[in-house]
This record gives sequence, C-alpha cells and structure tokens, in this order.
Amino acid sequence: MFILYSSMLKNSNSYWFIIIIFIFIIQTIILKSELTKANFTIVVLPDTQYYSAYYKDTFFEQTNWCCSCQNKLNISFVSHLGDIVEHDNEKPKEWIVAKKALYTLLKCDIPHGFLPGNHDVNYNIKNEQDINDAYSMFDLTFKLEDYKSKSWFGYQVYSNKSIRNNFQLFTAKDKSETFLYFHIEFFLSPILGEEKNSIIRWMNNIILLYPYRSVIIATHFVISDCKNNYYIQEEFLWLMKKHCNILFIFGAHSFKCGGERIVKIKNNCKQNRFIFVTNYQNRDPAKGWLRYYYFTKDKICAFTYSTQKNRFQFENDLSYFSINRLNMTLGDGCPYIKKYHYCKSNWNSFSVLAFVIMSTIINYILQIYFILV
Ligand SMILES: [Zn+2]
Repeated sequence: MFILYSSMLKNSNSYWFIIIIFIFIIQTIILKSELTKANFTIVVLPDTQYYSAYYKDTFFEQTNWCCSCQNKLNISFVSHLGDIVEHDNEKPKEWIVAKKALYTLLKCDIPHGFLPGNHDVNYNIKNEQDINDAYSMFDLTFKLEDYKSKSWFGYQVYSNKSIRNNFQLFTAKDKSETFLYFHIEFFLSPILGEEKNSIIRWMNNIILLYPYRSVIIATHFVISDCKNNYYIQEEFLWLMKKHCNILFIFGAHSFKCGGERIVKIKNNCKQNRFIFVTNYQNRDPAKGWLRYYYFTKDKICAFTYSTQKNRFQFENDLSYFSINRLNMTLGDGCPYIKKYHYCKSNWNSFSVLAFVIMSTIINYILQIYFILV
C-alpha cells in the first residue's frame, strides 16, 4: 500500500493522495455501518437424521456455529424441520446426540423450536389409544420442564405433556419485527382426521391472537415432490391464504431435485407468499449444510451454508436467492451481504476485526486499480 501511495505521489500531485485517503475513510465507514447495521437471521436445520446416527460432530458443529455466530449474524431464531434422528424409537443413542446438539441452543439462549418428522415417530402403532407411544423417544428427550420457563415458548397441550406441536413468540434481535413461529409435526396416520383438525384449529386460533406478528410455519412435509403435479399439504395452504401475515412455510423431507424447492402462493390479500423446501441429507452427507435467512429492511437473503466446509452454495439459484420485501418477489441474491456477511464457528473477535480490515483494504485496492486503469 505504501509503495502504491508513493508511486502515485511521484506521478501526480498530493491532491490525488488526499482524494484517495478520503475515499478510503468513507468506504471504511460505509462498510462498518453495513456490517453492524441492525439486521437479523433465522437459521433452518433440516433432516439431521444422519448426523444423529452417524456424524454426531457435524450436528454439534451446526448448533455451536449458531451460538458462535449469534452476535455477528444477529441470529434471532433457530428452527429444526424434523427427522432429527434416523431410527425413531429404536436407537436411544441417536436421541442423546440430538439432545446434546439442540440443547446447546438453550445454553446460549437462542429462541428455537423443533418438531417430529417421519423418522422421529413410530407410526406402526395399532390403535388410537397407543398414539403417545409413537412419540416416546421424542417426548423423553425434549421435555416440557426444560422449556416452560421460556417466555418465548408455547405448545399444544397433550395429556402426557408432549411438546411435539409448539410455537415461539420472539422479537428479532434488531427489535425491528416480531414473529409467531410454529413447529408442526408430520401428518401421517394416525395423525389424521380429528387429530389433525385439532392441530389446524389450534394454529388458526393462535394466529388470530397475533394479527401484527409475522408468521412462519415450519413442518416436515409440505410438498409431495418436485414434479409439476405436486401436492401441497392443503390445511397449511388454507391457513396461508387466509392469514395474510403468514410469510413462509418451511418444509423438509423430500431430497429429490437436490432437496430444494421454492413454490409461490398468492394469499387472499393478493400478496406473494412462499413455501421453501430444504433437505440436505443427500448433499455431501456430514458436511453440515444448513439454510439461513438474513433479513434486512429491503430484502430477505437466503444462504445455504456448510458449517464443515465453511462455504456457501452460490452457484445454485435455489440455494442462494433473495426476496424483495416491498412486493415479495424473488431476486438474484444479496451481492453486498454475500461479500462481507459470513461467520465461521471458530472465529474470535480478533479474526472478525482482521477480516473487516482486510476486506476494506482489498476493496480499496480494487477501487484504485479501476480508477487508474
Ligand atoms: Zn422425512
């Protein structure tokens, strides 16, 4: 840098030097304000069943990353979309791994939720009276007493204190927005008929209580597959069309077509809404791919990130895209944020500072190059 400045001074006058220093200072201020601007992040963890069964460190690393990056990315919420384990009630060891991973979020105090997917429940029960047995390991692992003191946690009441259908009320870390966030189980037999209707009625009544909150529904299964004649879970579609404050439905389960899908819905207020499907169980298993949504005032930026590789998947527009908040249309992404906003789990504050300084200097050198060439 010094050599560059010197040669420029020799070849021109000090007027240029002052302009360049001025640009440098302005850019540093803009970058710093962009990096510390009050935005926030929601992290989504789909289908961790292989991690619980075979790659426990990957699961631990994912939730540790959420805690380590809580401040840098303003992580306000973490959502697990089900298939927490692989072998439902058969392998208690997998539930021990899952509990350790997800309770990390309790320790670092990030509001979060989870739900049972089809791999978490034993659906081979013989009659309706045995229904609680289907969730025995889920209920044994995630206990009401661990969550009932949390002001952000709510649940549908069952006689055995199961928290399999739950919701969270949280405020974004920048205080810009409040959310009502549901976690709803997979509707498979015997969670059909009146059982399913009671869950939808419960959701409907809670949404009516919070008309000014942005609502997100997380569930395990929402779209049948990636063919054109797909089936959408009609009860969720009904809710989304009826309640115009529902922004998104997040689903998982299907790993066809790369495990990612975006479906646009028009609600009854004629606004665009979206269903996003993510499932990375077959994408580099053990690499800890997750999805996060970075909310700014103007855009919501969707990033797909591997906590093992410390890298994003930018080359696929189902993995990296944006939503314009004004008219809720899909966009190409968030180039500025893509450039500067990421966080490695092992970063300390010195690394973050070094990264900011280096990014600024590199940006500055490039600017000078383009001015001079
Ligand atoms: Zn599944």
